[in-house]
Order: sequence, then structure tokens, then C-alpha cells
Amino acid sequence: MGKPLEEYLEYWRHIFRRRRALRWQEEGWLYNGYCRLCRYCCGPQDSDEPFPMRLLPEQMVPGYEKNFFLLDASTAFLDARGCRAVSGKGCRLPRALRPVSCGLFPFVLNAGGLYVYKTCPAVLLNPFQRIFSLGGQAARWLTRLDRERLEGIALNLPTAVLAEKYISLNLRIYGSWGVSIRTE
Ligand code: SF4
Ligand code: SF4
Repeated sequence: MGKPLEEYLEYWRHIFRRRRALRWQEEGWLYNGYCRLCRYCCGPQDSDEPFPMRLLPEQMVPGYEKNFFLLDASTAFLDARGCRAVSGKGCRLPRALRPVSCGLFPFVLNAGGLYVYKTCPAVLLNPFQRIFSLGGQAARWLTRLDRERLEGIALNLPTAVLAEKYISLNLRIYGSWGVSIRTE
């Protein structure tokens, strides 16, 4: 991340003069009106550290390996090259074949808890209550997946990275606290 949050805030305020739509969609996708101008998530990352995106077994269709850079058979990743599936017009894959994490971001499931990426313009330019409420909807949707799938798609980021880049929403999807979801 590097820069202070204030610098991101200033930058995004300059790009986005008005609020954009944010809506949780029941098929498990956040409609995010900021993405079109931001494009951070699919494009080149500011680090060569791979950002893993686990695939569900049904997404590993014949030829799927040509769509992604892969860490292993079921783990796609992004790095300084961006995602292999991105085209000039955005993602070239149908939603059903995109990693679950693509539809969740800026929400991230990490070790059973839900977090939000701090520097996403949608997060910085909206009241946190709104972001928390959307996180609650995402969390409710995630609880439809069984534990094995949830554990499969969850990240396990180092504590220092979580503290630097993410905010915990205190929403536990699975784990020792059990399901604990607060919504509006
Ligand atoms: S950082 Fe946020 S607004 Fe930008 S592409 Fe990712 S989810 Fe969309
Ligand atoms: S699969 Fe599609 S939506 Fe997901 S990171 Fe790659 S280009 Fe973006």
C-alpha cells in the first residue's frame, strides 16, 4: 500500500466527484460503480507478491488454466502483470467462472472472518455504516457455502498485512466463534 490513507482519499475524491452505486447482488456479487474507473482489482498490482484467488471445483472447466496465472491447480493469482483474464473491456469470463473473491472484493474472507480493503474508493468515499451493511449481506451469502468451500476460498494473510491493508468487520463466517453476522 505504501501511501497514507489521506493521499488515497484525496486522489479518489478527485476521480469520483459523486457517489457511485454499491449493491449486493444475491448471486454473490457486489455491484460496485467505482470499479470501472478504478480497475485496480483486475489490473497490474503494485507488488509482485501473488494475490491468490481460489477456484471452486466446478470452475475448473476444460481449458480453465488458460484463463489464469495459477499457483496450483485450484488457485489463480494476480500480480504485477494483473490478471490473465482481463481484457481491454474488463473481465472476459462469465461470472460463474470467476473466482468468488472477485465478486466479494473489497470484502475479503480471511481465516473465517470478513475484512474490507482499506484503500478501495468505495470504502473510502462511503459512510462506514454503509460498507458494514454491505459486508453483512456478503457475509450472509457466504454462509450458504459449506465449510469446506469456505475454508477453500479463504485467505490466510499474515497479521501484519491484515493490519496494514484491511479493516476487520467483526463478522465471523466460520471458526471458533461460530456464525456471528450483524446486518442493518
Ligand atoms: S479497489 Fe474497489 S473500486 Fe477498485 S476495482 Fe477493486 S473493488 Fe473496484
Ligand atoms: S477473473 Fe476477472 S474479475 Fe477476477 S481478477 Fe481476473 S479479470 Fe478480474
